[in-house]
Amino acid sequence: MTGKKPIVMSGIRPTGYLHLGNYFGAIRNYVRMQDEFECFFMVADLHSLTTHPDTKELKSNVQRVLAENIACGLDTEKAALYCQSHVFETSELYLYLNMLAYKGELEKTATFKEKVRLQPDNSNAGLLTYPVLQAADIILHRASLVPVGKDQEQHLEMARNFVNRFNHRYGNVFPEPVAFNYNDQLIKVPSLDGAGKMSKSENQMSTLYLADSNDLIRKKVMKAKTDTGPTTPNANKPNYIENIFLLMKLVSQQEVINKFEQDYNNCTIRYGDMKKQLAEDMVEFISPIREKVEGILSNEAYLKQVMETGAEKARKSAKATMEVVRKSMGLKYF
Ligand code: ADP
Repeated sequence: MTGKKPIVMSGIRPTGYLHLGNYFGAIRNYVRMQDEFECFFMVADLHSLTTHPDTKELKSNVQRVLAENIACGLDTEKAALYCQSHVFETSELYLYLNMLAYKGELEKTATFKEKVRLQPDNSNAGLLTYPVLQAADIILHRASLVPVGKDQEQHLEMARNFVNRFNHRYGNVFPEPVAFNYNDQLIKVPSLDGAGKMSKSENQMSTLYLADSNDLIRKKVMKAKTDTGPTTPNANKPNYIENIFLLMKLVSQQEVINKFEQDYNNCTIRYGDMKKQLAEDMVEFISPIREKVEGILSNEAYLKQVMETGAEKARKSAKATMEVVRKSMGLKYF
C-alpha cells in the first residue's frame, strides 16, 4: 500500500436522530479526514437490526443519517458515503471472521453486556457478534484509521485481534485498524444530566440532537444539573459542572469560557447565566445544521443518487479485497 493515502472507515447506526456526541465524536473528524485520506463512511443499517428489529422507520432513519452527515459537511464527491446493506461482500467477510472470533471474548464485551441488560428478551447472536461485523466493515476496505468516540475503543481492540488472527493464519492481508481522533484523546460528549454520555436512544431530554428546535435546545440546556456554586476559591469541579464546561468548550468562544472559569474560581459564578450563554451558543451551532438537513431531506432523488454513488465506490473496494481474501484463505479452487 506504499505511496497510497491511508484508508479511513467509520459508520453510524440509523437508530434515531444524530446528536452532539455523534457530531464531535465522529462526524467532525470525518469532515476533516475527507480532505486528507481515502474515506469510506457508512450508514450501519445492518448493525441497527441487532437492537431495532422493527424496520418500519428504517428507510426514513437511513435518509436522515445521510442528510445529517452531508449537512455537517461530508462531501460525497470526496468520500464514499454508503449504506452497509448495499455492499453484500460485508456479509461474506463477517462469516469468515466469525470463525476467528471466540465465544468467550465476545461475551466479555462491555457493549454486549450493556445491551443484554437493556434488552433481556432479545439477546440475539447478532448482538454477540456485533464487534465481528464491525471489524468486517472496517477491513473490507483495508482501512487503518477509524474515527470513533471513546465508547468504541474496545471494539477496535477486538478488530485488531481478528485481523492478527486472520493475518497469522492466512497471510498478511489486512492492516491493523486504530481508533482515530485529531486531538489525540477520543471524545466522550457527556449527557446534560451529568450521568453517562449523550446517546441516540437513551435519556432524550439530556441529549442535544442536531434536529432539536431552538426552544427545545434552550429548554434542555437550562435543565442541566447544577448546584449553588463553589464556596472555596479554585475548588475542584463536580462531574456535572465539569460536563457543562466541557460542552461549552465544544461550541463557545474562548473568552466566554475564560470568563466562566474565572467566575468559578472566584466563587462568583452564576450557573443560570452560564447555561443561558451555553444555550445560545448551542442554538447558533445546531440551527444551521438543522435547516440544511431539512432541505436535503426534501430532495429524495438526490438522496437516491448519493446512495447509488456511494454503494458503487464501496463495492469496488470491497470486491477487490474479497478477491484477495478468498485467494489467501484457499477458497479459490480453479
Ligand atoms: P449511539 O451510541 O448514539 O447510538 P452510534 O453507536 O451509532 O451512536 O455511534 C456513532 C458514532 O458516534 C461512533 O463513532 C461513536 O463513538 C460516536 N458517539 C456516540 N455517542 C457519543 C458521545 N456521547 N460522545 C462521543 N462520541 C459518541
